[in-house]
Amino acid sequence: MHDKKTSPVKVNRLKVSVADLRKRLGQQLTCTVNAVLPRLEIIATHSTQDPCVGELVFDSIERGVAVTGDVKFFWEGECRRCLETTKGSQSVRIDEIFQVDASQDDEVRHFDGVTVDLEPVLTEAIAFSLPLAPLCKASCGGPAPDEFPAFIGEAPEMDKEEVDPRWDALKTMKFE
Ligand SMILES: [Zn+2]
Repeated sequence: MHDKKTSPVKVNRLKVSVADLRKRLGQQLTCTVNAVLPRLEIIATHSTQDPCVGELVFDSIERGVAVTGDVKFFWEGECRRCLETTKGSQSVRIDEIFQVDASQDDEVRHFDGVTVDLEPVLTEAIAFSLPLAPLCKASCGGPAPDEFPAFIGEAPEMDKEEVDPRWDALKTMKFE
């Protein structure tokens, strides 16, 4: 497995040339992604101009390449309860196949066989992962918690899944 891997290639532009990779089936290429994408917006949340970062593995397959890996992006939005600005980061899983002659209704992306364009892939993945209604913290009581308790008619257990986005930022910090 290891001899197939080449050292990571930095991708700052989102177009990756795969002509060499495709000369042999089964070859792999690892790309470090570090690129600023156009701002994406959904309801009260938008992606920030911090670069998306991650590592994607390109596999040479029949008629194309498979691209897999995780990319992290940063977002900013309005807390749905207190309306204060809140921020976070999120990882998105990329799992795409690019093939020449892919038909439109395939689950596969068509490409020219030479250049993979990551921009539409990352843009879609991020657009689907932006939090629709973020919270500054799971226990946010809203602007006037005594007058308008946030939990009336709402089971507090429902909030268990929600993690303070600031913890995400901490998790991604590297302590070396
Ligand atoms: Zn809040």
